[in-house]
Amino acid sequence: MQLRTRLSHPATCHPDVAGVLVSERALARRVRELGAEISRDYAGREILLVGVLRAGLVFLADLARAISVPVRVDCLAAASYGAGTSSSGAVRITRDLDESLAGRHVLVVDTVLDTGLTLRALDAALRARGPASVRYCVLLQKDRGGPPPFRADYVGFTIPDRFVVGYGLDYAQRFRNLPYVGVLRRPVYEGTS
Ligand code: 5GP
Ligand code: MG
Repeated sequence: MQLRTRLSHPATCHPDVAGVLVSERALARRVRELGAEISRDYAGREILLVGVLRAGLVFLADLARAISVPVRVDCLAAASYGAGTSSSGAVRITRDLDESLAGRHVLVVDTVLDTGLTLRALDAALRARGPASVRYCVLLQKDRGGPPPFRADYVGFTIPDRFVVGYGLDYAQRFRNLPYVGVLRRPVYEGTS
């Protein structure tokens, strides 16, 4: 689903937010659709939902409740090495799962797919643990031009290549609790607000 790049500016917007890219209503509707699609695809099977901390938490909580087949839930955290905005590509699991993956149908749930480095590295690590299957569900995929760097099996929205916050996504650990996906006002991330 391709989103228009135009932001909306509802009066109720957080003062640090320049505009809303995906509204609360659009999120709820798309999460329901994804949940229905996943439930059809996994009919008769149990899914192990693996949330990617911390950004994936909000999406995971909503998506889990939109899925009608049996699920287990676990989480991991991953960090990529690399200074500033350029990542070296090395990804390390900083908090591991409690569940064994052996023989399980694993569905990894994350909020945003950007360069794909995180999920590509995770994929290798998870497949080495003997799961029956591994698939990926991301709420947002950034349109960086060219072919997607990592193929997610379920994608909520394709968004323009802008830094977004809300619905689990932070800037300096803030804004995760916004109920929509928005773009910050420039002074906020340039430190002049
Ligand atoms: P990738 O490895 O695909 O480049 O990046 C994925 C991770 O980078 C996400 O899990 C998220 O932590 C971070 N990220 C990428 N784009 C954004 C963004 O627009 N906003 C926020 N808050 N985090 C982002
Ligand atoms: Mg972050």
